[in-house]
Amino acid sequence: MTKEYKNYINGKWVASSSGEIFENTNPANCNEVLGRFQKSNKKDVDKAVAAAAKAKKMWRETPAPKRGEIMYKVAELLVKHKESLAQDMTKEMGKIIAETRGDVQEAIDLTYFAAGEGRRMAGETVPSELKNKFAMSVRMPLGVVACVTPWNFPLAIPSWKLIPALICGNTAVIKPAEDTPLTVVNFMNIFEKAGLPPGVVNMVTGFGPDAGAPLVEHKDVDMVSFTGSTQTGAGIASACAQRMKQYSLEMGGKNAIIIMDDANLSLALEGVMFGAFGTTGQRCTACSRVVIHKKVAKKFTDMLVERAKKLKLGNGLDEKVDMGPLINDKAREKVHRYVQIGKDEGAKLLTGGNYANGKVLKNGWFYQPTVFADVDSKMRIAQEEIFGPVVGVIACSSFEEAVDIVNDSSYGLSSAIYTQDVNRAFKAIETLETGLTYVNASTIGAEIQLPFGGIKGTGNGHREVGIAALETFSEWKSVFVDY
Ligand code: NAP
Repeated sequence: MTKEYKNYINGKWVASSSGEIFENTNPANCNEVLGRFQKSNKKDVDKAVAAAAKAKKMWRETPAPKRGEIMYKVAELLVKHKESLAQDMTKEMGKIIAETRGDVQEAIDLTYFAAGEGRRMAGETVPSELKNKFAMSVRMPLGVVACVTPWNFPLAIPSWKLIPALICGNTAVIKPAEDTPLTVVNFMNIFEKAGLPPGVVNMVTGFGPDAGAPLVEHKDVDMVSFTGSTQTGAGIASACAQRMKQYSLEMGGKNAIIIMDDANLSLALEGVMFGAFGTTGQRCTACSRVVIHKKVAKKFTDMLVERAKKLKLGNGLDEKVDMGPLINDKAREKVHRYVQIGKDEGAKLLTGGNYANGKVLKNGWFYQPTVFADVDSKMRIAQEEIFGPVVGVIACSSFEEAVDIVNDSSYGLSSAIYTQDVNRAFKAIETLETGLTYVNASTIGAEIQLPFGGIKGTGNGHREVGIAALETFSEWKSVFVDY
């Protein structure tokens, strides 16, 4: 009998008023149903927001160090349940177990880091221009924060939103992606066990238009924190702007690795393999463009193709598997469409380019690791986010040309350069138009101590994690005291 999971509202597990449920399946074996979840609607959202609004006063008046103590308990429980969280995540999302352990670890690291802010959260004191006057600034919570999250980092991304939001004194309602509700149900269990008071965090499962949209539009939601596609983000931005509410957007990417002729090619190969095929290419920071000096392009491309062909596909719970499936059939069709577009545009398909079949793979949404050469920067496969295991190699003649190619994108999330020349490395750091730049490392693997986010079509200037997250989830008040 498949287990049914409820919404988490005001500290209680409750059924949706719709009376409808949806099922979650394993993308590595779509016959395996993992759970039955509430298909929430506006009424459920209203209840969740009402609970968060009611808890607002109590939670903002809870001293920040006390809020931090609860977050330390959350971190300890994440540590305790790391393996089961990772296993559930691999089952519902498909990425390999080493990566889902990494996803949980990111949540742990961030939670410990942000919990400490409960004892800092520093403002400023400055000398007043006037006599007998004291001038300072303090952080204030925003109120009720709505979190709308994607499926590719089912725990890390919800934690990047909820933990900083709560430590700042906000209450929250989360609507997880319909493909990965189980991980967020597990996260709610942890908040409950940690003793978070009822109403401080609430969860409604369901679909974007039915549950996400009413949450974003709700009059009692003060701020929306969204991660997902640029298309959905644009709609959320306009809904928030019309209602004069704050919003933070983390959206798509079209990330590139530059490989110069002086690069250590073996090191670069590791970076491209990890960036292009890690999480089956389904990371906002995935490397989908390799911009390489023509002197080493052929040699490197041969190395890349040889390695890509050797990747072992399968169920991510098997420790020997290198790459799991795509998230669902729609995603696989989209990737395949882009492969056809690449071929039609004149790019040369060197390996992959089709659904992966075979005994073990036939029931999952597997796609072959795919490499294109002779890619031109203006091609759609070099401009649009494919979100799958597809990488295009673009040859260039100089460092300056490489930078221009990387910057020829409507997105601006992550970039990387492999070179042994420190001058080129620093010039790249200065000129690449992205929120993250790596030197002699892949486009993926950010750490939680520093701001995470992108520019151009990737974001609206807000940042997650690090101290910068406090800017996203709090407001400044300037205070002047005459004495
Ligand atoms: P998505 O389709 O935009 O969905 C994201 C979330 O928005 C889901 O919970 C979705 O619900 C919900 N949603 C859909 N329509 C909505 C609406 N009208 N109103 C409110 N909510 C709505 O994105 P995705 O496919 O889950 O995630 C992949 C995308 O996320 C990629 O573009 C990737 O680059 C981006 N991403 C960005 C970052 C970053 O930090 N920049 C990190 C990770 C992922 P449903 O699940 O029901 O559709």
